[in-house]
Amino acid sequence: MQKYTGRITRWAVIAAIVVLLVLVSFASGWIFAGEKKHSAKEEEALTSQTESAVESEAESVVESQAESQPEESEPEEELPDTVEELPWNLLLVNRDHPLSDDFKPELGTLSNGYEVDARIVDAAEAMMQGAADAGYSVYCTSGYRDYYLQWTLLENKISRVTASTGLEGQEAFDEAKMVVALPGTSEHQTGLAMDLLCGSYSSLDEGIADTEEIQWCVEHCAEYGFILRFPKDQTDITGIVYEPWHFRYVGVEAATVIMEEGITLETYLQNVYGIE
Ligand SMILES: [Zn+2]
Repeated sequence: MQKYTGRITRWAVIAAIVVLLVLVSFASGWIFAGEKKHSAKEEEALTSQTESAVESEAESVVESQAESQPEESEPEEELPDTVEELPWNLLLVNRDHPLSDDFKPELGTLSNGYEVDARIVDAAEAMMQGAADAGYSVYCTSGYRDYYLQWTLLENKISRVTASTGLEGQEAFDEAKMVVALPGTSEHQTGLAMDLLCGSYSSLDEGIADTEEIQWCVEHCAEYGFILRFPKDQTDITGIVYEPWHFRYVGVEAATVIMEEGITLETYLQNVYGIE
């Protein structure tokens, strides 16, 4: 009986060991598999992290390329910092920035025969049509003028100053040039300016500012890309007397800012481009 019991115990021990071994091997199998699964997951996560890192790096490379590309291939995207680099519609002409005597834009003709820069014909016609639709008659009485015509206008003005004030020489010249731009400094040479008259007023003097027609133009010109170029009380900036009849094309974007803020083209270019 003792022998028998001892055998059973031995068997039990062996069985227990076997069961233990099996359990251990199972357990280790599970653990191993689990570990494998875990590491596979980790690997996946790591891979996708790396991939996304590579992707985002690639994206940022593409982005930075895209950012740097305009500098290299499209210099017009950069803000101009000299008058010469300004787009055609913002061409600045004044005493500090005169045009050469041979500057001449490609001209187009308005319906009443006056010539302006061909690129503004449609905008000019649209503005005058807009006035007509509102019940006002507004028309161009001076568009493009060449350098030499400006000399003639200045000489005529000097004569009139002398006749009316008795001033002569430099004094007459100084007085005249406040009203008639020096050759090369008139916006009319750019072809981007128009002097406007209207149905109820037909002289180019300050009185035209009181007409409903010109008031309509001042209120609506920016919608067509035009500005009142020589506003009242800013003659120290423009160097030109108040000219309520002189409208200048600059494009809708600039015109909207200039007319809303009541500033000059000079101030606008200084604010936006730092150009003086
Ligand atoms: Zn003018």
